[in-house]
Amino acid sequence: MPGTGCLVPKLKSFFIIMSADSQSEILDVALIGSGVMSANLGALLKSIDSSLKIELYEVTEDLSHESSNGWNNAGTGHAGICELSYTPDRGTDGKVKVGKAVEIFEQFEQTKQFWAYAVRTGMIDQPGDFINAVPHISFVYGQEQVDFLKSRFEGMSAHPFFSEMEYTEDPDQICEWAPLLMEGREGMPVAATRMKAGTDVNFGELSRKLIHWLGGQEGCSFYSHNRVTDLNRCTDGWELTIKDLKTGITRSQRAKFVFIGAGGGSLLLLQKAGVPEIKGYGGFPIGGQWLVCDDPEIVKKHDAKVYGLSPGAAPTMAVPHLDSRWLEGKKTLLFGPYAAWTTKFLHRGGSFLDLPSSIKFHNILTLIKVGISNIPLVSYLIQQGLQSMNTRLNELRNFYPSAKAQDWKLIDAGIRVQAIKKEDGDAGIVHFGTEVVTTEDKSISALLGASPGASVCVNIVLEVIQKCFPELCKRKEAQARLKEMIPTYDINLGAISKTDEIKEYQEWSAFADESLELRKKSTF
Ligand SMILES: Cc1cc2nc3c(=O)[nH]c(=O)nc-3n(C[C@H](O)[C@H](O)[C@H](O)COP(=O)(O)OP(=O)(O)OC[C@H]3O[C@@H](n4cnc5c(N)ncnc54)[C@H](O)[C@@H]3O)c2cc1C
Repeated sequence: MPGTGCLVPKLKSFFIIMSADSQSEILDVALIGSGVMSANLGALLKSIDSSLKIELYEVTEDLSHESSNGWNNAGTGHAGICELSYTPDRGTDGKVKVGKAVEIFEQFEQTKQFWAYAVRTGMIDQPGDFINAVPHISFVYGQEQVDFLKSRFEGMSAHPFFSEMEYTEDPDQICEWAPLLMEGREGMPVAATRMKAGTDVNFGELSRKLIHWLGGQEGCSFYSHNRVTDLNRCTDGWELTIKDLKTGITRSQRAKFVFIGAGGGSLLLLQKAGVPEIKGYGGFPIGGQWLVCDDPEIVKKHDAKVYGLSPGAAPTMAVPHLDSRWLEGKKTLLFGPYAAWTTKFLHRGGSFLDLPSSIKFHNILTLIKVGISNIPLVSYLIQQGLQSMNTRLNELRNFYPSAKAQDWKLIDAGIRVQAIKKEDGDAGIVHFGTEVVTTEDKSISALLGASPGASVCVNIVLEVIQKCFPELCKRKEAQARLKEMIPTYDINLGAISKTDEIKEYQEWSAFADESLELRKKSTF
């Protein structure tokens, strides 16, 4: 049942506590955290090899309530369609470079394929609970931005992924696509691109469905309200120290492979494990906030995710957007995120001491260097955190000029712990996306960073599986299973150009979308 613990694990933890002194059976895989990463890794691994013994531990009482929780992120199925921050640069020919958008689209396609497989085979049900079709729009104003968007559109629409993208500079057309953008706007050049095939995803709901499926499989369980407090090497793998927060009892569990999918808590756990690969790494938390509107009259006027260009020093993950969301069975409107200064790494299971306690002898220099070279970012975060409701509304009015204060309330979003590593001293932390850190012996993998994040989770965990389970991946049956679940897993989809390749891709894509109920049965 989403949001609560589960009886089977509770009973099971009782027996484990009873035998805490005896060596418990070694697991094949221990998953730390119940976010979208652990959920997809567990489900994918178990689907490839049904004999695997897997357990998952979550510190909070409810599952998937940190960054993956629907309210804590924007729920954009990032596919590179509307996010202008993925295509910031122009090439030497002056044209906007669209390679990163193509890459992310391909990764989201793989992710959708696995979720579609999970729905088709009954692993999870009711896709409308976690994924819905919502057009993705990029919207700009002012001539410089319009020129940028036009060049981006020319590059994007030439690729088969984005061939259905539309472009307009006509205010009436934009008004038809997203009326709120034009209400009260006058006298400035505007432009927009739109693709109808965008999505809104509730990553928390999806994770809970996958974890409940996993917990029902032979040899697998999940435990909420269980904090992993330590990791030590042992024969054949790792010994995890796990504290049951309800009973206060601490137990240990051995595992051959550990995935640290603890979100903001991953860095601290890697430090506890003392693996050399983490030397020099630090974490820099960036909190978030949303403006939310529940007024049905306003909500029904907007059916899109609208992304704009970054205002000034805003880090890429704080580029504002006006989002239609489907949360808890209801449509709502979110604007943001506003970045905020915090020292916590996790909302629920975290503490204000997270940042100070993550500072170690081996990363202090890196952190100081990064801090000095990112003074504009730090002051931006402080200024964002302190700004008044009026200033926040002015930012919203760049998108929705006639927005009124009384229709909006401010809520907290998730925290992104931006990973910092030695080489980033000069480059600056904000350019650092998601990074999988794996030990040399492939017994631990951890996910650091947060962008593009949840949308490409299947692609990320596939990388973990290929790296850490090479023997499994070599097996013919495993390859056949992977092909069945993610038909394009071994294909460079971004490079397709021939008519038959494009047709095949469109068929796979349509099949996944149909299974996820994103479009009606196609005529392919
Ligand atoms: C403001 C904001 C907007 C975003 N928007 C988008 C978006 O539009 N699209 C998108 O694709 N991505 C988005 N993201 C990123 C996305 O939310 C994350 O990439 C994704 O949710 C990370 O999933 P995770 O499983 O790694 O971590 P989480 O979902 O944070 O899960 C980690 C879990 O580990 C648990 N945990 C931590 N420490 C321990 C421990 N010691 N023992 C046991 N459990 C522990 C935590 O309680 C938590 O439940 C956004 C993020 C933020 C903050």
